[in-house]
Amino acid sequence: MSYTMKEARAMLAQKPKYSLGFFPTPLHRLDRLSEELGVELYMKRDDFTGRNLFGGNKIRKLEYLIGDALEKHAEYVFTYGATESNHAMQTAVACRKAGLKPVLYLTAVVPVDESDVRSNLLLDQVLGAEIHIVRMLEGETEDEADERGLQMAALRMQELEQEGHRCYEIPMGGANAVGSAGFAEGFLELTEQMEALGKHADYIYHATGTAGTMAGLAAGRKLIGSSTEVISVNVSKKDNSYLGRAAGLANEVLASLGVADLTVDAERDVAREGGFYLPGYEKPGKESTEAIKYLAREEGLFIDPVYSGKAFAALLSHIRSGRIRPGSTVVFWHTGGATALFAEQEIVGDLSCALIYDR
Ligand SMILES: *Cc1c(COP(=O)(O)O)cnc(C)c1O
Repeated sequence: MSYTMKEARAMLAQKPKYSLGFFPTPLHRLDRLSEELGVELYMKRDDFTGRNLFGGNKIRKLEYLIGDALEKHAEYVFTYGATESNHAMQTAVACRKAGLKPVLYLTAVVPVDESDVRSNLLLDQVLGAEIHIVRMLEGETEDEADERGLQMAALRMQELEQEGHRCYEIPMGGANAVGSAGFAEGFLELTEQMEALGKHADYIYHATGTAGTMAGLAAGRKLIGSSTEVISVNVSKKDNSYLGRAAGLANEVLASLGVADLTVDAERDVAREGGFYLPGYEKPGKESTEAIKYLAREEGLFIDPVYSGKAFAALLSHIRSGRIRPGSTVVFWHTGGATALFAEQEIVGDLSCALIYDR
């Protein structure tokens, strides 16, 4: 048995929450692309979550995470990501708004050039976060470097706690039951917006990394018994345990809302598309590069090379191959991240077109 929208909203309203953005985010139809592709294509604008030009999907999670941190009287907030992490930057923004001190442990997947700091890392510096760079060692994988970052952070946290400062830890991507509740709420928000338009989404497409967004959407979907299919597009290599972990996190969200009679099933309730992340995380692919240019040139909209470009490439491919039936109503969830267009060249790839010098 699922719950009504009103009941679901009431469950979420019991959680501590700190306002960080502008909700509901806009939802609008892409007229030219709908015509060209033969589907009803909408975009959910979580690049506009606020509270500055550089919002994104992490703001929804951070409203609950910062709410929790404040309730626990934290002074410092620790979090993790790559040097160009959207999540780390948005966490630093959220901390500043809430009067908390951000401490970031950032893995240098792409080496940092201190004389030419770009994009989110530059914003982290403007925000004056305590920034620890975790260099990748010779022969080390990203996961191993991340693990070392966690260990170094644990020492720093211990030091601060011993001095009497209370610390709050947010996992990479804000992907835990507290944060992911924000996307259960996001699912309700989108459903209400579609209803107001007299529409029903057959599909939602979005980029997935830590699975926090995906898990929250799955929890929200289950809560109100929606039939919308959520297709989560991987932006990095994931093993077979990924769907199980996403479903597990969704169930933690449901449990945290006091729901005992519904479960998200790893086989039936979550779906991932794993064919579009190559050549790898923070590495631009041919299809994502094409997708970024296509969306900009047809609709004047910007997506990014690391996340939304890969998800949009998958969506385009699924429409063109007929995996999405013609005439379907599809929502592309824009999760933000366009700051990556101003990141290091190896992240951006080649998005250029000819420059003309008239004489
Ligand atoms: C973090 C991020 C995602 C993925 O969200 P997860 O909750 O980590 O899966 C997608 N798009 C952008 C732009 C992001 O920054």
